[in-house]
Order: sequence, then C-alpha cells, then structure tokens
Amino acid sequence: MLPPLATRSRTCRCTPSETPLALIRRAAHLCAVLLFAAVFSLETGVSVSRTWVVVPTCLPIVLRRCHRCASVRFRANGKFRVNANHKLLDAWILALCTGCGDTTKLTVLERTHVRSVRPELLDLLHNNDRGLAAELLQDPVVRRRNRIALDWDNAWRLDSGGPDQPDQPQGEAIEVSVGFVARIPVRPVRLIAKGLGLPRVEVERLLAEGNLVSTVRLSGKLSADFTFVLKR
Ligand SMILES: [Zn+2]
Repeated sequence: MLPPLATRSRTCRCTPSETPLALIRRAAHLCAVLLFAAVFSLETGVSVSRTWVVVPTCLPIVLRRCHRCASVRFRANGKFRVNANHKLLDAWILALCTGCGDTTKLTVLERTHVRSVRPELLDLLHNNDRGLAAELLQDPVVRRRNRIALDWDNAWRLDSGGPDQPDQPQGEAIEVSVGFVARIPVRPVRLIAKGLGLPRVEVERLLAEGNLVSTVRLSGKLSADFTFVLKR
C-alpha cells in the first residue's frame, strides 16, 4: 500500500526541474555535509567548491524474468493500467520485455477503495505520468512487492558544470558536493573519474593515498548525496 500522495514528494525526484543548488539544499543531511565541508576547509584550505548532480536521462530497466522468452529486462515507458471494479481500484505500471515485447504489470494499487486514493494520484495514473512512473519505480515498497530490481546503466548523466571550468590551481584543495535527483546507485570512483576527467586507476590511487577523502565510503556504491575533497 502506497502512502497517500500528500506525504510524498509533490515534485517528481526524477524531474530535473530544480536547480542543482536547490537539490543540494533539500538534502536531509545538509548540516552534516556543511559541517564536514567547513571543518575540512579549515584543515585543507579548500578554495574551490563545486556542485555536481546525478540526473536520470530515462526510466531504468526493470529486471524481471520474462515468461515468454529468456530475457530478464523490461522497459517501462511511463504507461499505467487502471481497473475499477465497483469502488475498488487496481493500478499497474506497464513494462515491455526487451526480448519479445510481452507486457508485464507491476502492481501499484491492489483492490484499493477509490475514496482512499487521492484524486491527484488518480489523475497522474490516468494521464500516464512519466514522473510518477519514475518515482514509483524508485519506491522500495513497490520494488519489493513486485520482486523487481532496477538497472540504471546508461540511464543517467553527471552534470558537473561542463569542461569549461577553470583548472584547479596547484596546491589547492577542491571540494565537490554531489547531489542525486533520483536514487541511482553509482560507484563513486567511476563518478569522480568522470567528473574530474581522470582515469579510474588515478582516482583509486588518490583514494589509497588519502588525497581523496569523504565522510562516506567511496569504495562501494552510493545513491544519496555526499561530499568529497580532493587534496593536491
Ligand atoms: Zn520476453
């Protein structure tokens, strides 16, 4: 059962309508990040600060076994199906098998009384709102209920301000705040390599030498905002 729409974000987290700064500002752990950044700035003399944002470019691939072919990959296109039986509603996200085109249905509402469904949510379902599909696919409750996982490969980009940024002066530290528009699991090492235009081995070397530091572990995968400092 999904929480009522009023308790959910009214702005789709998948819609890059907010500025990078606004996204960073509404991060729950902003205070911790700022404190870390402030303390670290004092210690390392950080003089360059940047904001990067991980932005979804399309809906992720839904991983689920197809009953018709050997494929395990389905593509959601933002379409929903809503069935009303008297006062009870069922609603599904539709996704198409990338192998045979067969449709699979991911349960969103199941025999839910129409009065307990907010009209705004119903409108979005009826209008095949892509933002709602993106938000629901990221919802762990929906994923568990439908026993699916998501593949975000090639479904996101890193907005790092472009290559026209001034080069980092030698001897100065750079502090980067990374914000996530959607909960996309990415390897920080890969992300940092991409953002700094460095080979991954170079980023791994900086990490091992202690010249790349963060309050979070940079060795695994992350899907929430974090800050790192690169010392030179
Ligand atoms: Zn198939």
